[in-house]
Amino acid sequence: MFRDAVRNFFIKEVKPHAERWNEQGIVDREAFLKAGEQGLLLTWADEKYGGAGIKDFRYEQVIIEENARNGDAGFFLTLHSRLVGPYIGELGTEEQKARWLPKCVSGEHILAVAITEPGAGSDVAGLRARAEDKGDHYLLNGSKTYISNGILADLVIVVARTDPNSSHGLSLFVVERGMEGFERGRNLKKMGLKSQDTAELFFNNVKVPKENLLGEFNRGFYHLMHFLAEERLLGAVGYHAWSEKAFDITMEFINERKAFGQTIAAFQNTRFKMADMRTELDVAQAYIDHCVIVHNEGKLSAADAAKAKLYTSELEGRVMDACVQLHGGAGYMDEYPISRMYANARISRIFAGSSEIMREIIARSIGLDPRKKD
Ligand SMILES: Cc1cc2nc3c(=O)[nH]c(=O)nc-3n(C[C@H](O)[C@H](O)[C@H](O)COP(=O)(O)OP(=O)(O)OC[C@H]3O[C@@H](n4cnc5c(N)ncnc54)[C@H](O)[C@@H]3O)c2cc1C
Repeated sequence: MFRDAVRNFFIKEVKPHAERWNEQGIVDREAFLKAGEQGLLLTWADEKYGGAGIKDFRYEQVIIEENARNGDAGFFLTLHSRLVGPYIGELGTEEQKARWLPKCVSGEHILAVAITEPGAGSDVAGLRARAEDKGDHYLLNGSKTYISNGILADLVIVVARTDPNSSHGLSLFVVERGMEGFERGRNLKKMGLKSQDTAELFFNNVKVPKENLLGEFNRGFYHLMHFLAEERLLGAVGYHAWSEKAFDITMEFINERKAFGQTIAAFQNTRFKMADMRTELDVAQAYIDHCVIVHNEGKLSAADAAKAKLYTSELEGRVMDACVQLHGGAGYMDEYPISRMYANARISRIFAGSSEIMREIIARSIGLDPRKKD
């Protein structure tokens, strides 16, 4: 029943607007409000904040899968709900939760998290943005880039250095729309995810009230690490869901298109390619579902989440490439969805921790850690 409701939402409120959103480079704010009305944002939030109090990850899994099937890749409602929202839900004080969560649940406030800077992405320890304790407030300076929901966001969780003497001396601050000195730069033009507002953010002497510190002072690095496993599992579910969609639309195409007097599907090469993809997708689904169960028990390790992200994002790249190939020239044309999906998929191996960083995490988990000599 939940899946049906979610599917109807995407078919009615997202699909008809997707083309326009991709052209305008941003989704309509109303889409978040509509999702809020349907109870699809921050489903985990307690009822007293307007949520459904559903912690079970499978509900978000359904939302991600249905967005892939009938929605739009650039509509980052899951980033809002389950990637950024939990920072407030888990680290926030009662006062902070009461202040911010209800409007996040309703979609009136859109969320973003700003970690990456022009000079530091994978290497979080190299962040330069800094916040100084000025007694009754923190003074925030720095710039961020490639921030998803960056234009739409009303609340941005900004990671800044608060201990200049420690590479891990970071803290998290909630910067609100309208705070003096908080400015947005360009909505960046990208290879794919055209409807997603990925932006630059600038913080010039922003006076952040003390009550907007999220979590513990100087513990920001560890807070970030805490949320990474779930973030990577969210990614894995999405990369897999988009691969499934690519598989399905390719299946339709190869059964209709003909060459040399037969359908493309009838060539042995096509059948073998589809068989390989079906096998890999099924195997990946089993691993994702395993991770979801383990995560629901609160036991998903960083390494297992990294394996899920690494495998599914690399698989997505292979699937998209093979599906474009099977479409022939049509696969290169924007009027065929596979063309856009191919471009969208390229980022999966880079953001939320690149494939190389995933391999580092996995290698360390099996004892291959160059930092530990003997
Ligand atoms: C569309 C989009 C949306 C994004 N959304 C957000 C967001 O909402 N919030 C946010 O904070 N950030 C966001 N990002 C930023 C994203 O997380 C970073 O781009 C990513 O972490 C990589 O960092 P980087 O771009 O600085 O690349 P770099 O870290 O400079 O990496 C360049 C290359 O070097 C490799 N490399 C780096 N370190 C190592 C190593 N130790 N070993 C081997 N290879 C290594 C990388 O894998 C990569 O191939 C987004 C990016 C994009 C493109």
